[in-house]
Amino acid sequence: MYLPKLISLVLCSTVASAVVPLHENMSTHAMTLNSIRASKDSEPTPFYDALAKALKKRKTKIDNLCPPSDPVARRILEEYGAIFLAHKKVTPPPVCIFTTEEQVTRFQNAAGFESEVIGYDEIELQPEALKKLNKAREEAQKEGLDITPRDGAEAARRNYEESVILWNSRFQPALDYWLSKGRLTEEQVARLRSLPLAQQVAEVLELEKTGVYFSKDLSKSILYSIAAPGTSQHIAMLAFDVTEFENPRVREIMAKHGWFQTVLSDLPHFTFLGLKEKDLPKNGLRSVEINGQMFWIPNVPGIHPGLDK
Ligand SMILES: [Zn+2]
Repeated sequence: MYLPKLISLVLCSTVASAVVPLHENMSTHAMTLNSIRASKDSEPTPFYDALAKALKKRKTKIDNLCPPSDPVARRILEEYGAIFLAHKKVTPPPVCIFTTEEQVTRFQNAAGFESEVIGYDEIELQPEALKKLNKAREEAQKEGLDITPRDGAEAARRNYEESVILWNSRFQPALDYWLSKGRLTEEQVARLRSLPLAQQVAEVLELEKTGVYFSKDLSKSILYSIAAPGTSQHIAMLAFDVTEFENPRVREIMAKHGWFQTVLSDLPHFTFLGLKEKDLPKNGLRSVEINGQMFWIPNVPGIHPGLDK
């Protein structure tokens, strides 16, 4: 029942790394600076200031979203946090990390979602996100282009279990690899496999600080390859993986309709913010251009050392 669906479960970033391989070791090494240009626009608002303001409007605060004592949750927030700044017409998740399927189902039902058949695939997104995606598609089609889901229904809404399966698709082979290289012992591997998910994520992020990476190509953080379990913007139903992401005009049309690339290195992945591009800096996001593609990431100095030069 569930299995056939899994076969088509392919990650949005898999091919992306092959297309633009420069993200290797991004978190620890300076990236090729001539291919990266920080925005020359006026200084963007600090992410945490903009976030506090946005959450206040939603009658919540950062500590409810991500406990300050949980460094993993903070790291996730700083990598994937753009969705918490989205337009008030959409509903961001109430937490940085969902921990059960029930919690995800409750959120998804409360936020609401609608579906659309594109080609052979039925995709599901929050209503405003879907409405603007349809507008973008119409505009693209008028120009003889199209915007279609990459790898089927998983291009949009995902559930909790799918996010766990994706995690394991990177975590498990990486353990085997580092064991074979002698960087991890049998005992360490057995222990890591037996840990509860939250601890697994925490330990993986610690190991990555020593160069033991868990992405598909084992050269960068797993967070640039797949989302940690329960953290995907796809769970929030505010993400859509685009087949035609390499077409600059498609990216332009997506941006015009509030859809932006917000996760570094995940090239086909677009996030619905519902904001105008010119307003993103004052909403706590900064732009980073990598090989001609513009990413809008939380403006937190220091989390991407290579980008702060
Ligand atoms: Zn994606």
